[in-house]
Amino acid sequence: MIQAFHDEAMHYDAPLYRPPSEGRNTIVQVTIGCSFNRCTFCGMYKTKAFRARPLADVFADIETAARMWPGADRIFLADGDALVLPTADLSAILDRLAAAFPALERVSCYATPINLNGKPPEELRLLRAKKLALVYVGVESGAASVLARIAKGATPDAIAAAIARAEAAGIAVSATVILGIGGRRFWREHVEGTAAVIDRAPPRFLSTLQLRLGDGERDDFLARFARDGTPFEPQDDDGILAEQEALLRALDPPRAVVFRSNHASNCLPLAGTLPADRERLVALVAAARDGAPLLRPEFLRGL
Ligand code: SF4
Repeated sequence: MIQAFHDEAMHYDAPLYRPPSEGRNTIVQVTIGCSFNRCTFCGMYKTKAFRARPLADVFADIETAARMWPGADRIFLADGDALVLPTADLSAILDRLAAAFPALERVSCYATPINLNGKPPEELRLLRAKKLALVYVGVESGAASVLARIAKGATPDAIAAAIARAEAAGIAVSATVILGIGGRRFWREHVEGTAAVIDRAPPRFLSTLQLRLGDGERDDFLARFARDGTPFEPQDDDGILAEQEALLRALDPPRAVVFRSNHASNCLPLAGTLPADRERLVALVAAARDGAPLLRPEFLRGL
């Protein structure tokens, strides 16, 4: 019985992360860890040495997944930046998925700006034609001063170019921004720079998260942030709401962007489309800042 179970099991190297919106979808792990793995606020893959899984192992998992969930229509490729794989390998994986899952509609994965900018437009279009339809990109901030302090490894220009490159190929981008990541000293630059990047290169989806540092990341984060002598001063809920309101007011994308702040880290869940719903969303944030009982209790917040 135990052998039979193992023969049918997917092979996952833990910990395994996926965006909340992929919670019901099938996960196939094609890489282990994150090829960059240096952002100081992120502890997701610090326990893993980055590597690509052998294609034969990925293909075996795809066959297993097809037996376990034959009707799956959405598949997420883990880990931290599956788009780092060579296009030929990703293409072969997408072909296997299409063959194994007759109902397949969409494949998605995390991608870094480096991954996206490293792929020529024709390669991105090829991947899109094979159903890679959505990439999750951690923008975190559009301010150069903040990006350098968190060791993001990308400039505002590189982030805008990456989003535009994916969207031009027909691959939707779901971008995340972290409220509070500039602290009290840099929050205005953080908001203004972020709005400028998003307006310049609007992603299909935009979410805000709220900074929560784990015990394993805190010291590195604080040390890197303060390298030039300016220490990190954390925002409280009032400061986070001021950032949220200023960001919503500043954003004016030239095409519709679906906006969410419903990730469990957020003190105030919001949902709408920008720029159409801006005034409604701003009014909700303003009400919360005025004391309306809209905030998620601290014990319900997390990652
Ligand atoms: S935030 Fe993304 S790119 Fe940065 S270390 Fe974490 S997984 Fe890698």
